[in-house]
Amino acid sequence: MAQQAESIASNGIYRSCPLCDNENADIKPSIYSRDQWIIKMCARCRLVYLENPPAYEDLEETYAWEKTSHQVTEEKKKKESALRQGVRVIERYKDRLIRRDKLIDLVKLYFPAGPVIDIGCGGGEVMSRLDQKYTPFGVEVSKHLSGKAQQIVKSRGGRVFCGNALLGLDTFEKDFFSAAIMSAYLEHESAPREVLQKILRILRSGAHLIIKVPNYGCLNRIVMGQKWCGFRYPDHVNYWTPETLIKIIRDTGFEIVRFNIWDHFPTSDNMWLVACKPD
Ligand SMILES: [Zn+2]
Repeated sequence: MAQQAESIASNGIYRSCPLCDNENADIKPSIYSRDQWIIKMCARCRLVYLENPPAYEDLEETYAWEKTSHQVTEEKKKKESALRQGVRVIERYKDRLIRRDKLIDLVKLYFPAGPVIDIGCGGGEVMSRLDQKYTPFGVEVSKHLSGKAQQIVKSRGGRVFCGNALLGLDTFEKDFFSAAIMSAYLEHESAPREVLQKILRILRSGAHLIIKVPNYGCLNRIVMGQKWCGFRYPDHVNYWTPETLIKIIRDTGFEIVRFNIWDHFPTSDNMWLVACKPD
């Protein structure tokens, strides 16, 4: 039994395309596959995805984001040239000096006061930056991080569900939330369609959802190949492009409110989209 659990933890669980359900059994693994992690491009909808993502239970601790993310960052730093490291320091200072906080800008534009849910809230970093007029709620699969987030939201009347989003979203009332955030989440979710459908249930009519994900279609991925910062094994299980992101948002019943060229500019590693639940 222990051996079986270990094998699942190391090899993941097979899935068909999480966007269109195509099996893609005859499709060759992508050159971006690594170790035991098999990446494929769907023959039908072109979504690039990890075919054997870790089980949710393994994300609670074994592959918890705060652990694997730290490991990957340290590995990448070791491989970086001195020049690249210098550029990274400059970028960080530039961000602090001139870049505005895009997430908070979008929140101000689209979110009315009221309860807001942050799906994949991590340690509560985004929720701690929300204005007091919002009551923050969260869902987080990592046990360690959800505990930290709970400390942040409890004094504001919110709560954090510790577990996977498919279970967590069912614990909230229908039409309860006035807005939702998925920042750096949808690339981690092995059942993205099902989660979006569940979010639609708990949002009020006309409520907005802000999404931020890495853009697999960006220039940096094409130039850097395997070294692109958006590759995370096995954390990132879906690699979205503007086309596949639009498709999943529409297929699940949302309307796209904002997705202009500046929201998915080809030189940026990330893209932003604002959707809403139709009236
Ligand atoms: Zn597909």
